[in-house]
Amino acid sequence: MKVERVLAVGAHPDDVELGCGGTLALYRRMGADVVISSVSCGGKGSKELSKEETIKVRREESERAAGVIGATYICLGLMDSEIFEDLKNRAKMVELIRKVRPNLIITHSPSDYHADHRTTSVLVSHASYIATSFKFKTQSPSLPWVPPVYYMDNYLGVDFLPEEYVDITDVVDTKKEMVLQHKSQFPHLKERSGEDILEDMLILARLRGRQSGVKFAEGFRFFHSWPHVRTYRLLP
Ligand SMILES: [Zn+2]
Repeated sequence: MKVERVLAVGAHPDDVELGCGGTLALYRRMGADVVISSVSCGGKGSKELSKEETIKVRREESERAAGVIGATYICLGLMDSEIFEDLKNRAKMVELIRKVRPNLIITHSPSDYHADHRTTSVLVSHASYIATSFKFKTQSPSLPWVPPVYYMDNYLGVDFLPEEYVDITDVVDTKKEMVLQHKSQFPHLKERSGEDILEDMLILARLRGRQSGVKFAEGFRFFHSWPHVRTYRLLP
């Protein structure tokens, strides 16, 4: 089956690039349209800047990161550390899915470390089915199919056993380029928790590559729920 449109949803700006940037680059190479979305605009991602300034900087960074592969970026406008599944946010996610009309969706796994990541995972998997409902009204028309949902790897692979691997060796430099657009996060995360997101991304890509017999890979799990299941592979 030809994948024409892919929607990748992260909780924060930079999550999608880190979790599945290589796979998205491959989809673009195959001619698919890719939409990268973050549920929050990352307004708490700076110690020095105001919320408004931080959101502006991170939006520009996200647009540049998406631009590396010719993808579109959409922020759903929530605040980080304040993502909950309520009716309003469910409607926002349903509308995003209906607007993009993807053949498949990639999001966080429900076992990742951050509360926002876990809630985003639940929001997306629930909305992917509700998007077909005639009576759950949002701006766009309901979706005539239930898009399969793939979970991208957890941060540094903790508590995540991939079911499918994607060889990203050819596009690992593109993935690096995407991650590097999130310039504001490098000093911020280093100071806050000692994280080096680029280094951590490469460690995990190398590990998943070793596991699957290639140089660099990304790992995925699948949302095992009727009627999301398919008999064929959709990942590159
Ligand atoms: Zn995140």
